[in-house]
Amino acid sequence: MADLIVGLQWGDEGKGKIVDLVAKNYDIVIRSQGGHNAGHTVVLDGKKYALHLLPSGVLNPNAINVIGNGVVVYPKQLIKEISEFDRDIKEKLLISDKAHMILDHHIAIDKAREKLRGKNAIGTTGRGIGPAYADKIARVGVRMGELGNIEKLMDKLAHYYEMNREYFEYLGVKVPDMDFLRDELEYYKNELMENITNTTQYLWDNIDKNMLLEGAQATLLDIDHGTYPFVTSSNTIASGALTGSGLSPKELKKVIGIAKAYTTRVGNGPFPTEDLGEDGDKIRKQGHEFGTTTGRPRRCGWFDVVAAKYAITLNGCDEVAIMKLDVLDGFDKVKVCVGYEINSEEIDYFPSELDDVKPVYIEMDGWNGSEGVTEFDKLPLNAKKYIEFLEEKIGCHIKYVSTGPDRNSTIIR
Ligand code: GDP
Repeated sequence: MADLIVGLQWGDEGKGKIVDLVAKNYDIVIRSQGGHNAGHTVVLDGKKYALHLLPSGVLNPNAINVIGNGVVVYPKQLIKEISEFDRDIKEKLLISDKAHMILDHHIAIDKAREKLRGKNAIGTTGRGIGPAYADKIARVGVRMGELGNIEKLMDKLAHYYEMNREYFEYLGVKVPDMDFLRDELEYYKNELMENITNTTQYLWDNIDKNMLLEGAQATLLDIDHGTYPFVTSSNTIASGALTGSGLSPKELKKVIGIAKAYTTRVGNGPFPTEDLGEDGDKIRKQGHEFGTTTGRPRRCGWFDVVAAKYAITLNGCDEVAIMKLDVLDGFDKVKVCVGYEINSEEIDYFPSELDDVKPVYIEMDGWNGSEGVTEFDKLPLNAKKYIEFLEEKIGCHIKYVSTGPDRNSTIIR
């Protein structure tokens, strides 16, 4: 049976901290979608690790880590991440033979297309994720298992480049030198082949073990249910985690949704509760809301109950973690969006298009001193009221409240 951790907003909710908190309870940790655009920084024995492709179970020497079929793997990045560990984490790493591979041309296409979009840019991380998924759906992608037969793979890729010659020219993307490409693929094979296997079968064979599906990105970035086209190119929600691992819906035991006590968004796209004034700036500053790799300021705003309820329903959440409550310390008033107004009409559901949506807010009294609190009853009264109000409105138990980046700064209710 598997539990799932999933982001309920537009990402960067602090999933890493909750995964870190609970990962020790699991024998197998699985990544099921996304690529090296995802991930988080974790600190272990004083050393910082940036995990983009590796599941967080690598921090637990006993856990098996699975990169599932739904992930798109950039082998160069994976090899780099593995090499950053002092111990041999490959002994406990399995990579799906069905996972699609990102090659350098996917990255070049990603960047070229984003540039051509101009002011309509999606704000992708330019890591080739979208083009690799596009090839997967167009049935012209290459899978990790194909590294087993480099000659056959080279023939396939030569055909692929031939078919796409004009498109590559239009984008200004170079077709790789075939000798160079062969060397690259041989290198990937030498480094990774012994870890590539049928992970779906492996999970079925170990179905009695405790498994954790570690979501990447977040619900509102889901390709189907997110704010299209400003979304990622995979299904980030619970059902995507099942497709991306091969586990059946019946194997999903508990779904933990992660949300911040406010909302942030990176890149373009609708964001009803964005605060472009001083409050938004204050959240950004207090929450250090700047991209980890790019340093770009994140857009900041208030908690959105409508979006959270939508995300909780899509994922079938059993419990919720509210992160970064301490960031709201020191506000006189805090706002919560409890409905949307669209064409002068109030709605309480998340529409398919958010363009003309205006948030309906209620205002609550702020608080000071939630930072580092570890017991719910010791929170400032207004902070308690805030959490209780959110819990009532979202209709799901708030099991964790995080009051600081430290593992210990967590309230478990
Ligand atoms: P993820 O991708 O969802 O794991 O999110 P990030 O890795 O971007 O994590 C968010 C950041 O917030 C990290 O730097 C965490 O250390 C930090 N963080 C997590 N929880 C809290 C919290 O409760 N309070 C504060 N102030 N920071 C937190």
